[in-house]
Amino acid sequence: MNLELSEEQAAVRRLARDFVAREIAPHVVAWDRAEEVDRGIVKKLGDVGFLGLTVPEEYGGSGGDHLAYCLVTEELGRGDSSVRGIVSVSLGLVAKTIAAYGDEEQKRRWLPGLTAGEYVGCFGLTEPGTGSDAGNLTTRAVRDGDEYVVNGTKMFITNGTWADVVLLFARSTDAPGHKGVSAFLVPTDTPGLSRRAIHGKLGLRGQATAELVLEDVRVPASAMLGPEGKGFSVAMSALAKGRMSVAAGCVGIAQAALDAAVTYAGEREQFGAPIARHQLVQELISDIAVDVDAARLLTWRVADLIDRGEPFAVESSKAKLFASEAAVRAANNALQVFGGYGYIDEYPAGKLLRDARVMTLYEGTSQIQKLLIGRSLTGISAF
Ligand code: FAD
Repeated sequence: MNLELSEEQAAVRRLARDFVAREIAPHVVAWDRAEEVDRGIVKKLGDVGFLGLTVPEEYGGSGGDHLAYCLVTEELGRGDSSVRGIVSVSLGLVAKTIAAYGDEEQKRRWLPGLTAGEYVGCFGLTEPGTGSDAGNLTTRAVRDGDEYVVNGTKMFITNGTWADVVLLFARSTDAPGHKGVSAFLVPTDTPGLSRRAIHGKLGLRGQATAELVLEDVRVPASAMLGPEGKGFSVAMSALAKGRMSVAAGCVGIAQAALDAAVTYAGEREQFGAPIARHQLVQELISDIAVDVDAARLLTWRVADLIDRGEPFAVESSKAKLFASEAAVRAANNALQVFGGYGYIDEYPAGKLLRDARVMTLYEGTSQIQKLLIGRSLTGISAF
């Protein structure tokens, strides 16, 4: 693997850095306190091409490879994980999955709007009763003529209250094949679909997280994404790439923790010297730096495998597992460097830690990643 960035990749990273400095950094604390990022950011992300990365240009995408996608995701995560998550879901889990599995009509219907930031997408897999055990989901889609009638509840859905379309996973009646789950593209203004905002999150406060309730929602059969009964494979394939995106966001958190810790340690004086002069503070900083590099290399390897058409799902689990735990450690170490100031939100470390914590939970908890890695190594499923 070549670790040198190409001209194009370096330019995309510069673009992302400038975007974050201009459009995100000045608002981070206010958005976090208000529990909502400014919705106008979605259109701005679309205008600059960040919602179309890796999507073919004929559908409004901005092309680029998966390393470029990781670089942008890292920079967004460095700026604000709430904004990063909007992209990771609307592009990473929804648009990219439509690009991979959609028929021509579905691609033309949804991709130009999603990549332009005119539409927001959300990914509806988790339910109140099934999180890690997603394959046992209970939302049902019962065939009725040319339609399906869908009933069920989806929990913790990122972008949920904002979204124009939900990539919904439901058990469809008489579905042959894998566990009988099918994927559907459901406009969120479809009668019978209601949403409740979830407030009080520890982190990612700027993100619009929601519970979706579906009561006799009528969906045309043409809205099914991929073959009937193969929806669980669609979900797992979306999440395999999604985990790389979460990992890249975690690299951004850890890098932000490193930058903040180094700067503060150089400025803050105790015992007559900058705290950077004290060996145990240097230990905190060097631990963060090693976590940043290791997480970044694991993440870039996944991007490289995808771009070369090689299998990548297990490597993506490893990257997500390591990078999410590393981001928590890095943010916690940075908070320690800040001392008492780290505990208030005028300084960055506390928010980084709150945002990092969920990365070990969603898109498969750390335990679930270990079971996926363990299964690949032993050939034995411990699920
Ligand atoms: P549970 O599955 O109940 O797990 C509880 C604990 O048990 C965990 O520690 C888990 O690791 C452990 N556990 C469970 N099974 C095993 C096992 N077999 N072996 C060992 N340990 C096990 N979902 C979506 O579909 N779309 C989204 O956009 C989305 N966004 C989210 C945003 C946020 C902020 C949050 C918090 C969640 C989001 N989720 C989303 C849901 C997320 O993916 C789930 O919360 C996650 O998969 C865990 O499920 P759970 O919360 O039901 O926990």
